[in-house]
Amino acid sequence: MLPFTGSPLDRRSDKRSDPDWVAQRLVGARILPLWQGQVLVTGSPVLKAAAVPLEVAQTLVTPLGVMVFLGLEEADLGEGRAVFAFDVTASPDAPEVLKSFGEFRDLRTSSLILRRKDLAILSQAKGMIEWHSRNGFCARCGAKTETADAGTKRVCPLCGTEHFPRTDPAVIMLATCGERCLLARNVNWTPDFYSCLAGFMEPGESIEEAVRRELHEEAGIIVGNVRYFASQPWPFPAALMMGCYAEAEGDALKLDPTEIADAVWYTRDQARALLEGQIEARRGPIKSAIAWHLIDGWVRSDK
Ligand SMILES: [Zn+2]
Repeated sequence: MLPFTGSPLDRRSDKRSDPDWVAQRLVGARILPLWQGQVLVTGSPVLKAAAVPLEVAQTLVTPLGVMVFLGLEEADLGEGRAVFAFDVTASPDAPEVLKSFGEFRDLRTSSLILRRKDLAILSQAKGMIEWHSRNGFCARCGAKTETADAGTKRVCPLCGTEHFPRTDPAVIMLATCGERCLLARNVNWTPDFYSCLAGFMEPGESIEEAVRRELHEEAGIIVGNVRYFASQPWPFPAALMMGCYAEAEGDALKLDPTEIADAVWYTRDQARALLEGQIEARRGPIKSAIAWHLIDGWVRSDK
């Protein structure tokens, strides 16, 4: 199971539209604050999600402070505690008020040392809060929207349109040509960083077609067989990364200079060394990202 997946929460979509049921779940709930896109964490060396009780969260309530029901925790007997995400961005003193519970940190850089199930829960929390922060107005008529169903959707009071949380599908692929794989550096990345190519899907495309199009556009290669690997939610801010292996029909490259600064065919040994940080002045993707697992899976497939 990939990092960012495997949440143990039961989302209870059958109950979360009932305001009375949700209000009862707030009592004794675990409330996960987010501030300026950062998550509250605690612990060392392994980080955990830090929760605050309702009475503390209530001191940080603002008109912009969306609270979202994420789900119920697992329980051996009866019903588990409810878990909510709470946006405290509009409270500038939130880090000070909550410092006895934990500190706000970036989710992506914390992902390597966060407890796995907490990473999945915080991924959902961040994805939901990011979505709310970018969808305050109706895409259909432009009016201000309001939260509904415990923060799991937004509704336009003017035209009645319901807006549901968005996830943007993206393909990320490791192109292979015989015993080598293609790793590239985007023009926006630091000069030492090499990883898989990726891109957003476009309307009217299958996953396989998006993989072939992206590799042709960015690296000039023709791809035959495409094989699905796994998917990973990537809430920065709202992507679902769909990982694939793509068999190139030749190794000649024609890079798109507006997107790709460099691309290199790596042997298995070179790719393994990149993942292990053993190539001087070069680094690969972080271990929590699907790109790392795509490369690792290919390196291991030789054995
Ligand atoms: Zn509207």
